[in-house]
Amino acid sequence: MQGKIIKGIAGFYYIETHDARIYECKAKGIFRKDNVKPLVGDNVMIDIIDEENKKGNITEILPRKNRLLRPPVANVDQAVILFAIVKPDPNYNLLDRFLIMMRQQNLPVIICFNKQDIATQEEQQELYNAYEKCGYKVLFISVKEEKGLDELKELLRGKTTTLAGPSGVGKSSLLNKLVPDALMQTGELSRKIDRGKNTTRHSELFYVSELSQGDEETYLFDTPGFTSLNLNDVTTDNLMQYYPEFEEFEPECRFGGCSHIAEPDCGVKNALSEGKISAVRYENYKIIYEDLKNARPDY
Ligand code: GDP
Ligand code: ZN
Repeated sequence: MQGKIIKGIAGFYYIETHDARIYECKAKGIFRKDNVKPLVGDNVMIDIIDEENKKGNITEILPRKNRLLRPPVANVDQAVILFAIVKPDPNYNLLDRFLIMMRQQNLPVIICFNKQDIATQEEQQELYNAYEKCGYKVLFISVKEEKGLDELKELLRGKTTTLAGPSGVGKSSLLNKLVPDALMQTGELSRKIDRGKNTTRHSELFYVSELSQGDEETYLFDTPGFTSLNLNDVTTDNLMQYYPEFEEFEPECRFGGCSHIAEPDCGVKNALSEGKISAVRYENYKIIYEDLKNARPDY
């Protein structure tokens, strides 16, 4: 029987089949030997060993479209990063780090700012200016007042999306709107307990029936909230590649390989002073640049 891994906890994988049955499965030794670990989001074949108690074994992982290292999930089309416009104020550093991380993994990102109902027009404009210019789709929503949700739903339709964001931004509220029985699926209590100790939270995949029809299936990965993100492989030499809006001004830098930090006659800094580059983004660039410069190398 074919199914999809919707959750993995402590060596058990929970596989949902097309008829919405969920089996608790183990991956047999064969995977360990090949060093292939089943991931949430994987399409798999299972052998049912106990229909009554819904238990089985994974016998095969079907070919993957892609896999992410962070969060470790398979077969993803895009990411939605959720922040609040206010309460809490966006942590720009975290947002940029997330964008860099997804760019490294070639995953398109939709930036979604929640709590529009309690934000001013100016606050929204600043965010829009900063991120729309970098080529990201930027959406403003209010989960509470159900604003902007239709546009978001159209972007999710027929795709598998990973939903990420720091805590307090309204991620659970949004998930509950999109997957009304999400809490029931997990058990509200276990979810609350999990939430207390962040490290034990796992990525979980939800089928969004409202946005699915026939072959067009919509899924959402709920991934653990994060408070910090490490940027592997990003260095002070290549950080600027993750700021695509800098590119058109780089030919105007006097020095080749200009880091746009302290060099004179820097095209990027000139563009910044003329308001052609967002101050929020440039400040972030500088902060992450300094973080990377001061980071001790790992041995
Ligand atoms: P999570 O930690 O990201 O899962 O956030 P929750 O969904 O638990 O929401 C955190 C708080 O923000 C709760 O008090 C929600 O009621 C509130 N909240 C969520 N969405 C909105 C919104 O659109 N507007 C306002 N004003 N508050 C919201
Ligand atoms: Zn420069």
